[in-house]
Amino acid sequence: MPKLLDGKAVRDRILTELRPRLDRIRESGGRPPGLAVVLVGADPASEIYVRNKVKTCQELGIFSEKLTPPATSTTEEILAIVAGLAARPEIDGILVQSPLPHPIDERRILLSLPPGKDVDGFHPYNVGQLVANNPAPRACTPAGVMELLRRNEINPSGKKAVVIGRSDIVGKPMAMLLLHAHATVTICHSRTSNLEAECRQADILVAAIGRPGFVRRNFVKPGAVVVDVGINRLATREAAAAVFAGNAEKLAEFDKKGSLIVGDAHPLELEHAAAVTPVPGGVGPLTIAMLLANTVALAEQHLGL
Ligand code: NDP
Repeated sequence: MPKLLDGKAVRDRILTELRPRLDRIRESGGRPPGLAVVLVGADPASEIYVRNKVKTCQELGIFSEKLTPPATSTTEEILAIVAGLAARPEIDGILVQSPLPHPIDERRILLSLPPGKDVDGFHPYNVGQLVANNPAPRACTPAGVMELLRRNEINPSGKKAVVIGRSDIVGKPMAMLLLHAHATVTICHSRTSNLEAECRQADILVAAIGRPGFVRRNFVKPGAVVVDVGINRLATREAAAAVFAGNAEKLAEFDKKGSLIVGDAHPLELEHAAAVTPVPGGVGPLTIAMLLANTVALAEQHLGL
């Protein structure tokens, strides 16, 4: 059986390590770090993420502010909100939760963020810093994956890493971080030929696709590490049966709960891997931990500590 890489345990360690840094900020007479989250409209999945972010901030003593302009807001209105937050010294990090409702121009909003408050590391300036391997806020999910690997003593150096997915928020920054950690990196996507064969080369396989159970047995080399970034909700019995065919226990769980969360890796077919991240409880918890770590780092920078 593969080792389960426990994201909750790593998240707890990351948050515990932030406490002395927060104490230092407090003792220096400085204000607490401040995070502003802009949630436009009422996307239920985003609301859950944002609620968790705000709650974890409160637990750590990080000031957080949630702004919830309506889905009918114009690009200009959101730009004005971001400009207001950018001008406030007690706000260290600004996060504009995506996806933004149509037709708000997400690109213009992103470009309007001051790079020094871009807590998600998505601004092109910070993307450039990532490519150059200079210090700057790093995209939270890929940064969390690197922490998970490091704290489980999985060193990418010299290994072959394959990332499935090339999004700006996960796939691309993930590949760049693995490259900086000296892996030999291949990025795959929907146009990749021989995807299975590419993936089977991987010592470290990262799946960031958004398709339930997509990575099947034949994608994975025996002894590989599989990092499953995907979070997919199976909301119909048909969808649940497609992944868990013949697994009475899981189907009974679906019947009880009405839905199941699965990753992009098949939950029942990777017994030959050396290590896998569970979904839920693998990569997911690390994203918020890294967001708070980025907020604290920006506050330290703004306070000159
Ligand atoms: P995107 O939809 O932006 O990107 C998906 C990527 O997968 C694209 O590059 C796409 O290729 C590729 N892809 C889609 N279908 C295939 C296929 N059949 N074969 C090969 N590649 C394919 O998704 P995100 O990167 O935003 O998210 C990926 C997953 O990670 C989602 O499940 C999301 O929910 C989850 N996620 C989890 C987070 C966490 O905290 N754990 C945080 C963020 C995301 P192409 O570019 O060619 O279209």
